[in-house]
Amino acid sequence: MSQTDLLDRAAERLADRRARLTPTRRRLLQVLEAAPGPRTVPELQIDLADIPVSSLYRALTSLEEAQVVIRLRDSAGTGRYELAEWITGHHHHVTCTVCGRTEDVAVGDGLETAIGRLLSDVAAEHRYRISGHRIEIEGVCSACQRH
Ligand SMILES: [Zn+2]
Ligand SMILES: [Zn+2]
Repeated sequence: MSQTDLLDRAAERLADRRARLTPTRRRLLQVLEAAPGPRTVPELQIDLADIPVSSLYRALTSLEEAQVVIRLRDSAGTGRYELAEWITGHHHHVTCTVCGRTEDVAVGDGLETAIGRLLSDVAAEHRYRISGHRIEIEGVCSACQRH
C-alpha cells in the first residue's frame, strides 16, 4: 500500500468513527510505516519529540479504535504499536530478550502455508476452527550475541 493510499484509507476509517486524520495522527502513521517493527511509546517519542506524550497517547487510542493501528504486548508486558495487518500484510515478530528490540518477520508463502497447517492441526485437537494466528519469536539479536 502506498503512503497516499495508507493515509486515505486511514482517513476513511477515522471518518467512519467521526474522527479526523489530524496532523499528529498523520505523522504518527508515517513514523509507524517507516519503522522496521512495532514501536513502544518511548521509541515513537524519539521521532515525534515535539508532540506532547498525552497527545501521542490520544492519537494512538483513536487510531486503535479505528483499527488502523494495533497494540501488541510481549511476554515481558511491554506494549508496542504497529499498523494493522490489512495495511502491512500478514507477518510475525521477533524480539530480542536482551535489548528488547522487536522486528517484523515476513516468511515465504510456502513456510506460511506449513505454519498455517500445523496450527490448524493444533487448534483442531481443541475443537477450534482456526481464524488466524500471531507468532512472537524470542531470541537474542546479532548485536547482543556479540557482547
Ligand atoms: Zn538485542
Ligand atoms: Zn503467519
